Amino acid sequence: MKQCKKCGLPEHYTDIRFNDEGVCNYCEFYEAHKDVLEDRASLERQFTQKMEAAKAKAKSAGAKYDCLVGFSGGKDSTYIIYQLKETYGMRVLAFTFDNGFSTEYGRHNIENALSKLNVDHISFSMNDEKLRKQYAACVKLMHNFCSVCFHYMHYYSYLFAGQHNIPLIVNGRTSGQILQCADSTRGIEPFESSCHLKDFEYQMFHGLEERADRAGRMDYLKDIEAEAVSYFAYHDVSEEETMRFLEEKIGWVRPQGVSGHADCFAHAMAEHMSIEKRGFPIRAGELAVLVRRGKLTKEESQEILKKDYESFQEVSQETKDKFFQRISTG
Ligand SMILES: [Zn+2]
Repeated sequence: MKQCKKCGLPEHYTDIRFNDEGVCNYCEFYEAHKDVLEDRASLERQFTQKMEAAKAKAKSAGAKYDCLVGFSGGKDSTYIIYQLKETYGMRVLAFTFDNGFSTEYGRHNIENALSKLNVDHISFSMNDEKLRKQYAACVKLMHNFCSVCFHYMHYYSYLFAGQHNIPLIVNGRTSGQILQCADSTRGIEPFESSCHLKDFEYQMFHGLEERADRAGRMDYLKDIEAEAVSYFAYHDVSEEETMRFLEEKIGWVRPQGVSGHADCFAHAMAEHMSIEKRGFPIRAGELAVLVRRGKLTKEESQEILKKDYESFQEVSQETKDKFFQRISTG
């Protein structure tokens, strides 16, 4: 099997191409833009400017909040809320999309974090029958279901931002998640940030959102404008640093087990489907970004992926039953 000489991504990775030296298009993109992507002082300055601009906008609109943050109870969103409030003096509205996949572990972390963070919080669940239909259709068509959560989480973030005149939505995507399929600057922070739901979704769906929009299948809330900013595009914090910080500050409990995402009971199923359909675990692209950035060696990344394969290539009947029961529409 052919693999990128630098990052180790395999030849069946999404839209990958190799140059004559056997280096992939994603490594080439990173190398060409490294000076911008790693200029920490400049990125920090840009982030601070964005926060100040949002405060000014919220003030002139008479809004009660400066920003909205999607809050899963996981380390990234919890960390961001803490930093926005304490370091940047932002008035934060935390927002949880209750998708029916939460775990005891996740609920405990949400409850604990909210008792320490002192922010207003909305928890929202949508029409469950409609949600089940969406999951079932997505599994059938794309052998995946995380994109349904992704869409609705952001759809309702935009809807609430519009209703409360909140000018900014800060998300907890990691640098790996942002850059995993980056081979142009379109929609990629810090080169471009998006102010509408559809532009934001381009980063995950790469044109599928355009087709869904043209077919009239999705409501992209075109009248609502809010800037989407990824905290970790501007701050270089490792997973380990995030977890230690939260353990110390708010008594956060770190997840046990192989691959994070302990706040979703269907995570093993999502990994299983990714391996079946795409031939690699979900975090293959994210780890490749860490290799490019010099945070991991190619060998370390492949060791982690090997464990993911071993853990998720097969899932128990119990896991499958629980998942299909959750998305059943009958
Ligand atoms: Zn590569």
